[in-house]
Amino acid sequence: MERITAARGPELRCKGWRQEALLRMLENVLENGENQKELIVYASLGKAARNWPSYHAIVRTLKELEEDETLVIQSGKPIGIFKTHAQAPLVVMANCNLVGRWATSENFYSLQEKGLIIWGGLTAAAWQYIGSQGVIQGTYEIFQSIARMHFGGDLRGRVILTAGLGGMGGAQPLAGTMANAAILCVEVSEERIDKRIASGYLQRKTDDLDEALAWIGEAAAAAESLSVGLLGNAADIYPELLRRGVVPDIVTDQTSAHDLLYGYIPSGYSAARAAEVRVADPQRLQDDAGQSIAAEIRAMLAFKERGAIVFDNGNNIRTQAVKYGVPDAFDIDIFTEAFLRPLFARAIGPFRWIALSGDKEDIRKIDEYILDEFKDNEIAVNWIRLANAYVPVEGLPARIGWFGHGDRTKLALAVNRMVREEKLSGPVAFSRDHLDAGAMAHPNIMTERMKDGSDAISDWPLLNAMMSCSSMADLVAIHSGGGGYAGYMTSAGITIVADGSAATDVRLELALNNDTALGVLRYADAGYEQSFDEIERKGIRRVNADI
Ligand code: NAD
Repeated sequence: MERITAARGPELRCKGWRQEALLRMLENVLENGENQKELIVYASLGKAARNWPSYHAIVRTLKELEEDETLVIQSGKPIGIFKTHAQAPLVVMANCNLVGRWATSENFYSLQEKGLIIWGGLTAAAWQYIGSQGVIQGTYEIFQSIARMHFGGDLRGRVILTAGLGGMGGAQPLAGTMANAAILCVEVSEERIDKRIASGYLQRKTDDLDEALAWIGEAAAAAESLSVGLLGNAADIYPELLRRGVVPDIVTDQTSAHDLLYGYIPSGYSAARAAEVRVADPQRLQDDAGQSIAAEIRAMLAFKERGAIVFDNGNNIRTQAVKYGVPDAFDIDIFTEAFLRPLFARAIGPFRWIALSGDKEDIRKIDEYILDEFKDNEIAVNWIRLANAYVPVEGLPARIGWFGHGDRTKLALAVNRMVREEKLSGPVAFSRDHLDAGAMAHPNIMTERMKDGSDAISDWPLLNAMMSCSSMADLVAIHSGGGGYAGYMTSAGITIVADGSAATDVRLELALNNDTALGVLRYADAGYEQSFDEIERKGIRRVNADI
């Protein structure tokens, strides 16, 4: 079958730009994805559609869809077309939601086997993935935050150790070099290492630990940034570094540790052997992966004890380690609580925009607008300068930018005006990661140790999705975890297409304002002071039932 890439240019295959935009977004997640043949976008099992017949049916339907109709999708399979109205979402979807008591990995794998469900990742099944760039600013802001908190504001001369160069983990080497560090990335698949080098995210590779350490040591000593991909297994390399007395300044991991069956490769296994054992003895593969994770986490805890800044990068690795005999795995901090929560409390989070024309000049013009109009926004200006210089184009040109309440709307309305005035070559889609203020409950990542103990309450993402429908977003998705995330998370996603029309001004204003306002209110409800300030400053209407 021919490789799928997103359509570019002015020609429409659908009955309007909003439908065409969603179709291009679907094609784009596959273009950027890790394993197109299996429809897998990232995170070992995060899929864009249930199966190929579903994919083709979605494409067909989007081409026929009128602007006053809504397509309903259940776990990546199109179910029906409903007559709604021109302000209603064009697509609503629910992916991988299981009733609480039944939300286990075993049930998920068995339902997946029967073809009844898929895990949509966060942005895979919601067609919002923009390649490794999607997490790059988040990863960069984590490194910057660590620099400010522990290293006098700069990571020059500092060494970061991490693992996993997959769809999301592949952002780490570039984020590390952007933060001026020397970063060593352990990856078990040479193909993934080569992919990151080809995309410009990673600089060097080796399968020799001595060589890797020499390169990293030289770069750090010269206070130069460098990224090195080391072919190896994190479960072997982390303990080996400890044995050698090497203690990096910062340690984390972004392998697919959340999934013991399809994700994490145990020590001593190749990908091919894992595929064999997955069929022959799935429990053994999971147990071997669990034991390897335990070894890796023990090393991470020892690094912490020896003074390294060690954090969990959102892959459930601590939860797996606890199951496999490391009771103190949660002594390692989660990145959200440690570094990003003050931003989320003000609903500043991973907003993104995609140039549907395929013209990278459109992104450059939007960058320019941000540099002119958001001069006081230090995070945005610093990031846009760096992104402009370092972040390569993957798939449809896109940009991520951490913006908050009001600023997202201001930017989107300006872009819609630029589309209307034909200053850009085509419409632009606005979206965000599901890992955003009001949009995710994940007690081991996003909402760990919330001030009020509301970690596991998933009302918030559900409210977020309902509000996004009422606020005229073009696509609204509710996802829950699958694989090793089953039972661990619920999240919501939105996409709105800036097609230049006046109707879209209203859509953008309502959907974006209400999305971030709910985020601020969620954190205010949990008692975060930054949210109270934001409510005051931005005039968000809180109903305070506690007084
Ligand atoms: P992916 O499946 O595309 O890539 C995982 C990579 O890890 C693969 O390249 C694989 O070869 C490698 N790997 C597996 N076992 C290994 C081992 N023992 N040693 C070294 N390398 C090994 O997954 P991804 O999209 O990169 O996501 C990685 C993890 O990060 C997932 O658990 C995902 O859910 C999580 N994630 C976190 C955030 C966040 O907000 N911080 C965002 C997205 C994803």
